[in-house]
Amino acid sequence: MLSDEKILFKEAIAIDPLEVVIDPEARDQLEAGVGWQKLRACNGADPELFFSPDQKDGRPTATQREAMKWCADCIVKQACLQFALVNDEVAGVWGGLTTFQRRNLGRRHVA
Ligand code: SF4
Repeated sequence: MLSDEKILFKEAIAIDPLEVVIDPEARDQLEAGVGWQKLRACNGADPELFFSPDQKDGRPTATQREAMKWCADCIVKQACLQFALVNDEVAGVWGGLTTFQRRNLGRRHVA
């Protein structure tokens, strides 16, 4: 069961991808009806890179850092992160952040 703070946080971020995507090329394509998933930089990447487990100390693993390189210039990074937060994705690198990093992001926003 989610805490009240987490529910508030989820509601706060449950917005349209167009409200978070800042890349002009991505905005044009989203407005034209293209789903953000079609614009991912990681389309074609090995999924294993993105779904390696977190380390106990929260520091990104070498594999996660490799995944993050794909995210660095991804034009839909914000939409990807939003999707992961709204859907409580508990595994994987999304929006350039590991699960551990996303949990800390949530804590910062509800503080
Ligand atoms: S931010 Fe990273 S994981 Fe998300 S779509 Fe872009 S490349 Fe893929």
